[in-house]
Amino acid sequence: MKIIDRPALAPFTTLKLGGSALAEIRLHSLDDCERLPEALRLTGGSPHILGGGSNLLIHDGFLPITVIRPLMGSRDAEGRPAQPEILGQEDGPDGPRTLLRVGAGMRVPFLLSWCVKHGLAGLEGLVGVPGHVGGAIAMNAGAYGCSTAPLLRSLTVFTPERGLHELGPGGWYAAYRHFSLVEPCAWYMSVSAVLSLRQCDAAALRAAMTENFQRKKSGQPVHEHTAGCVFKNPEGESAGRLLDAAGMKGRRRGALYFSEMHANFLAHDTKCGIPGRSEDALALIEEARTAVRERFGITLQQEVKEWPAWQ
Ligand SMILES: Cc1cc2nc3c(=O)[nH]c(=O)nc-3n(C[C@H](O)[C@H](O)[C@H](O)COP(=O)(O)OP(=O)(O)OC[C@H]3O[C@@H](n4cnc5c(N)ncnc54)[C@H](O)[C@@H]3O)c2cc1C
Repeated sequence: MKIIDRPALAPFTTLKLGGSALAEIRLHSLDDCERLPEALRLTGGSPHILGGGSNLLIHDGFLPITVIRPLMGSRDAEGRPAQPEILGQEDGPDGPRTLLRVGAGMRVPFLLSWCVKHGLAGLEGLVGVPGHVGGAIAMNAGAYGCSTAPLLRSLTVFTPERGLHELGPGGWYAAYRHFSLVEPCAWYMSVSAVLSLRQCDAAALRAAMTENFQRKKSGQPVHEHTAGCVFKNPEGESAGRLLDAAGMKGRRRGALYFSEMHANFLAHDTKCGIPGRSEDALALIEEARTAVRERFGITLQQEVKEWPAWQ
């Protein structure tokens, strides 16, 4: 475990925005999780779990929060990228499946490359998603017909009420870009997960991923500083289409703007010479929500998580 005082948070996020926290606690092992309650007593502040920071809009200034970074599954004891652990096989309706244990801190792109090499399908819609496994589970991330939660067989979590424990499929509730535990808890942190992936031909999987990535690259600003989609798609609708029709594409405040490529991506122009301010991001989001409500009578729900989020 490592505790860092007053970390700057912007570098941890893909949007490159946000102030600083009271403290950052880095966790590398299950033993570190056991010591977490004591560490939180020392640091104080409201606990916030950080993955890859690719779905976060962090406010500016000094935030009275402690950022917890579960890094299990990112590196092994020698400092090399940690590998997923194959636990066994199960039969599925679509053929044999492999059960894989992955740490919450493993990067999704690393896991996808590993899955291609080993011919394991299910996650290929997540190509181009830059987060960690724990963040992908927390957001039930997905695209192109795939999402994370249906692949989950068990989840090891830490909660302040029960400490470390393992949950089976009845232990969580998942919906479109939503994941929560059934048990009451002030907050939870995923530590590792067991995923069930379909065995398939590696070449076919590689081709499917390449196609998904081409689709993503041609329609989304994957090379700009964003936090992915700002709003969830309303049922049967595309938030991007509504925002575009409401005139939000390209709308700018300071260094923040809605992408010209896809109106549901709020981007940060880090090279324009104006410092990026969360205030501008929040004002643009409010402007977009109002514009869509006035034009279509639809209130968009935010997908991007804002920090601080008071428990
Ligand atoms: C270019 C780009 C493309 C994207 N494309 C997609 C896409 O196609 N589909 C999609 O669904 N999303 C997409 N996203 C959004 C984002 O990548 C996903 O939501 C991702 O799963 C977030 O993971 P993260 O590790 O970065 O989470 P973070 O941003 O660090 O955190 C997000 C939320 O999860 C919580 N969290 C993180 N780790 C844990 C943990 N271990 N335990 C409990 N809670 C945790 C955080 O507290 C926070 O509330 C995209 C983002 C970018 C920048």
